[in-house]
Amino acid sequence: MKVLEHKWDPYSLKLRLTIGITVFSTLSLAGLASWISMKFQQIQISNHKENIEYIADRFPNDVEIYSDMVPVHEGLERVINNRTDKNIFIWVEKNQQVAVASSQIRENPNFFSDLLAVNEVASTPQLRNLDGRYWLLCKTPLQVKSENLGNVYIAQDITSDQTVLLSLLRSLILATAIALAIKILAITFYINHSLRPLKRISQLTANVSVESLSEAQLHLKNPPSEVKELAETFNQMLMRLSQSWEHQRKLLNDVSHELRTPLTIICGYLESTLRRGNNLSELQKEALGTAAGEANRTVQLLTDLLDLARADNGSIHFQQEKIVVNHLIAEIVTMVGQYSQHHIEFQVAPEELEIIADHDRLKQVLINLIDNAIKYSPADYPIIVKAYRKDKSAVIEVCDHGVGIPLSKQDLIFERFYRLDEARNRSGGTGLGLSIAKTLVLGMGAKISVKSQPKKGSIFTLEFAQ
Ligand code: ADP
Repeated sequence: MKVLEHKWDPYSLKLRLTIGITVFSTLSLAGLASWISMKFQQIQISNHKENIEYIADRFPNDVEIYSDMVPVHEGLERVINNRTDKNIFIWVEKNQQVAVASSQIRENPNFFSDLLAVNEVASTPQLRNLDGRYWLLCKTPLQVKSENLGNVYIAQDITSDQTVLLSLLRSLILATAIALAIKILAITFYINHSLRPLKRISQLTANVSVESLSEAQLHLKNPPSEVKELAETFNQMLMRLSQSWEHQRKLLNDVSHELRTPLTIICGYLESTLRRGNNLSELQKEALGTAAGEANRTVQLLTDLLDLARADNGSIHFQQEKIVVNHLIAEIVTMVGQYSQHHIEFQVAPEELEIIADHDRLKQVLINLIDNAIKYSPADYPIIVKAYRKDKSAVIEVCDHGVGIPLSKQDLIFERFYRLDEARNRSGGTGLGLSIAKTLVLGMGAKISVKSQPKKGSIFTLEFAQ
């Protein structure tokens, strides 16, 4: 079963959704947190502002009332002392000279010098940060009985409220960050979970092969409707593919079967005409020989196709029996030696090597491997067939010193109709031999593999477990 690799993919839907939702959540949460903090600050400051504005509004009136009873200067001082408390400081300034100030402010010369240094005080209360302390500061012109007394300055120290507000904001930022982290984790988990059915579909699809096409169906546990629809469409497609593959297979089987018999007869006639054709000209003999060769090749191709079709249908039956490998190989080597110019060497241990296999099918496989070794190596290079015991297995090897097969192609040569290159195609093969050999070897419960190096040769190995 193929396992899909878990790779970091910058274009994955998972990553895009996670980034998109994370950015959106971050912005919305951060926006909400800043809005809340701004509102808090506004509410807190507006209370103090109202208070200062009230004092500023009333101040000239209050002074006027007092000045009816006492001198203006004294009245001024009394109003200032009445209106001040531990956080509110009031002073009157004329021509950049402090005329009167509350006793509070005189007791705190440090604050006072900071406050005096502020330029451009507005008539509406403004928040100022002076040396780590927060002040609401405003000024208003002071006119009593048409006499200009300068400007009255009102300052309220809101440091303690502001400190509470800042620590509240810090807690809000921390809570927002924690909420954001939890949200991102939850989003990632949820997206992972939601995309799991899609991942499952691609895993199942990756494992569909020609052999499993008829049984391949996607079954997903509680998929979302959209994915369920996709899976159903996919299943219908698999069914249609399987039917059409089945149809194709049957057609191939029937056509191969129908063509093979007449072609075998044609082949027989051609060969017998050639054998008995003493009165034929050389040209006619050559033409008949070519026709017989081609007909033979086509019969072989049809036989291979029929073998594969039977293997696909599961209608090849193996007659598994005890076989002495030494005898079988000796028989094959003698047989092949009669028609090949290659020297075929047989290296086998003196004791009998027994395996369980189908005699005829194993013979077919070995003849195929030896035929290939003959086809793909020069005539003066020997072909060696070895048989030996290795651990608990019996091993048969067909070795040649021919053209060899590049590593990247070694798996492909067992596929149907795969042939290596044009130069070799002249050897007249069909590209089906090894795929039939593999089907037969697997059917007998054994394994087939190849080790090869270009220009050095190849070793095809059959391994029978015992
Ligand atoms: P073919 O009928 O073409 O020989 P096979 O299925 O038997 O088909 O082999 C597939 C391909 O594998 C061949 O076309 C050839 O290129 C390569 N091949 C098979 N056996 C050998 C070998 N002994 N040495 C080099 N190449 C080989």
